[in-house]
Amino acid sequence: METAPFEPALLNELQSRQPLLWLNPQRGQPLPAAAPPTTLIADAEARIARFAPLMATLFPELAPTGGLIESPLVPAGPLRHALGADSSAEGAWFIKRDDALPVAGSIKARGGFHEVQALAESIAIEHGLLDAKATRRILSGSRARDLFAQYSVSVGSTGNLGLSIGVMAAALGFDAVVHMSADAKAWKKERLRKRGVRVVEHGGDYAEAVAAGRKEALESPLCYFVDDERSERLFFGYAAAARYLARQLADAGRVVDATHPLFVYLPCGVGGAPGGITFGLKALFGEHVHCFFAEPVASPCVLVQLASGSTAPVSVYDIGLDNCTDADGLAVGQASMLVSPLMASQLSGVLTVSDDRLYANLLALKASLDVEIEPSAAAAIGGPVWLRESAAGRAYVQQHGLDMRSATHVIWTTGGSLVPPEEHRRFRAHAEGLAASVGIHR
Ligand SMILES: *Cc1c(COP(=O)(O)O)cnc(C)c1O
Repeated sequence: METAPFEPALLNELQSRQPLLWLNPQRGQPLPAAAPPTTLIADAEARIARFAPLMATLFPELAPTGGLIESPLVPAGPLRHALGADSSAEGAWFIKRDDALPVAGSIKARGGFHEVQALAESIAIEHGLLDAKATRRILSGSRARDLFAQYSVSVGSTGNLGLSIGVMAAALGFDAVVHMSADAKAWKKERLRKRGVRVVEHGGDYAEAVAAGRKEALESPLCYFVDDERSERLFFGYAAAARYLARQLADAGRVVDATHPLFVYLPCGVGGAPGGITFGLKALFGEHVHCFFAEPVASPCVLVQLASGSTAPVSVYDIGLDNCTDADGLAVGQASMLVSPLMASQLSGVLTVSDDRLYANLLALKASLDVEIEPSAAAAIGGPVWLRESAAGRAYVQQHGLDMRSATHVIWTTGGSLVPPEEHRRFRAHAEGLAASVGIHR
């Protein structure tokens, strides 16, 4: 693979797995002509609202909120303190707790539920069960379930996407199939099987599980394959997160404008979840929102794709990285080619994070706010510190003339509330061992 466009210094840092903050030189350029229209964001918001009453019927835990799939925005002053960044000059810190999203316990609830809702809607309309105006509650009736039972919905997943798609599809009566790599967490497989989802295990990495799932689905006309790398329905389910966050920020008294910048830090795997959210936020806040992705040092696939400057896929393997990380939700070697061209225009930058740092972050969050998350979900926690303390971060602030005293920092925590307590204990014990032996700083 051609990697000539890489600056040698950057390539060297990436290959030596040095944590870094990379700034995207293409940010601010127009979106490509082939970019999907932003009207699809409003379509997704409307679909999610239409389905809320049905969601409350399918999942009793959603009844109190009328079927709303949303997460709290929590002030994170104590976390800032725990990271040793206790300066009022930095504005306000929040965490956006998608680790606590109901039913699926991760950010994947946003894209995954929307994807299955859109599919169920289109099948039901095609078969005359539903018109555009009818209540979606009909879809929990026996006629709809009998119809859906003829279809299978399949997905390749390291875990969380499978949990989201599998649980939603099974709840509507689809034959739900999740293809997983053999190293995916045992408790996730077990949880899916308990919910009536078929789990198919594959050797090799996530990309191989996806390829196997896609191939099997292509062979059957009534099988719908959810493609994490290419699905617009997933992407716009994520993008719909932006409006609710805007309301939460307003409720918290946080203004976003030219003199009050908003920084958002998002853990990134294939790029769909953080990319969709960035796309949604850009539509609302334009140049006043600054989005950064956080990727493992072994799997910085969006960084590699954007820094390559190539329109052809370039993977982390192409530059000699192994894609081995404990952040199983982020262990992706090749970025989405749906999302990468959009992020080339919109993304501010990418920070990379070592596995040791993930565990230190996880511990800091537990100690400061008593929040337990999975390692992947801890990737973005150091974001505001990178902005303040690194040369690249300071250059970014200066280049854009930003007043950091009035900034709002939103750190997205993306998964963990369904992780069993003994697994959380294991994460913490590992983190404490590291803290004792090497100190908690990177
Ligand atoms: C999937 C996932 C992400 C990233 O989403 P992508 O769409 O793969 O970029 C982040 N955190 C967790 C916990 C995830 O499961």
